[in-house]
Amino acid sequence: MENIDWSNLSFGYMRTDYNVRCYYRDGQWGELELCSEETLNLHMAATCLHYGQEAFEGLKAFRGKDGKIRIFRPEANAERLQSTCNGILMPELSTEMFVKAVKTVVKANERFIPPYESGASLYIRPLLIGTSAQVGVHPSKEYLFVIFVTPVGPYFKGGFSTNPYVIIREFDRSAPLGTGIYKVGGNYAASLRANKMAHDMGYSCEFYLDAKEKKYIDECGAANFFGIKDNTYVTPLSTSILPSITNRSLMQLAEDMGMKVERRPIPEEELSTFEEAGACGTAAVISPIERIDDFENKKSYIIAKDGKPGPISTLLYNKLRAIQYGDEPDTHGWVTIIE
Ligand SMILES: *Cc1c(COP(=O)(O)O)cnc(C)c1O
Repeated sequence: MENIDWSNLSFGYMRTDYNVRCYYRDGQWGELELCSEETLNLHMAATCLHYGQEAFEGLKAFRGKDGKIRIFRPEANAERLQSTCNGILMPELSTEMFVKAVKTVVKANERFIPPYESGASLYIRPLLIGTSAQVGVHPSKEYLFVIFVTPVGPYFKGGFSTNPYVIIREFDRSAPLGTGIYKVGGNYAASLRANKMAHDMGYSCEFYLDAKEKKYIDECGAANFFGIKDNTYVTPLSTSILPSITNRSLMQLAEDMGMKVERRPIPEEELSTFEEAGACGTAAVISPIERIDDFENKKSYIIAKDGKPGPISTLLYNKLRAIQYGDEPDTHGWVTIIE
């Protein structure tokens, strides 16, 4: 695209040429359709609008130095969407169908994939919604699967840097046996007030403890938490956090680097023992944590003593980005290349 300012993209929506759509009717998925319309024609009684039958995913495509387009772990997103579908009673899409749809929409919008040098990427947003007109609370009979894409800027405009977080106890994002493990819009609706509260207090994001005991670390906003100490990568084991593909990838890279990896409940007090910590997800890969404040316990867990990202977080961040852009070999088969 001639007139996109690639180096000044934000994380926002920009219209691209095409989206792909697929309809579920009479108990089966139809053919994939390429569409240039941005809006959906939806019945006002659709189940997604009233009862939250909505799931989404998020992944990225990157343009390499070699000009090739790389999509990061689309099969993992397909599997997570299948799990979400199970969770809120929607029909699953096969991994094959999902990956084909992702490849099709990326290829069709090739001119919107930012150049390598910009550090930007193409954000891919799959969406699945219940569309049947219903008033009773039942799963929809019909569904629509859509994927749109939009170019997004590098998350760290001023360079990889740390952020302050605050523990919010007033609101829970998800319950231990609720939908926290599924990627559904409802979890985000539940997080808006906590997020606003954190922002109003000048923090970059809210930090959640487990909803039941308010004792263990759950998530940092809409990202997973990890801490680093004694050559060990520690991340929470919980029934209310979303299984992040970035986190899973970082665990593997940490192991490759000779670190120990632990997935276990992390009590809040343990925050004082970490040498480094971060929030991780597709948007930023890693957002290093400067400190975590807890007003109720009058504590401030300072993690980045010098205010800068730690060496291991920096190494992990650079390594994962290098794999995504094709600067380093993809030894785990994470990347799908579109020629
Ligand atoms: C999507 C999401 C993440 C990050 O998952 P990735 O697969 O790494 O992008 C973390 N937490 C929540 C609540 C999410 O919705």
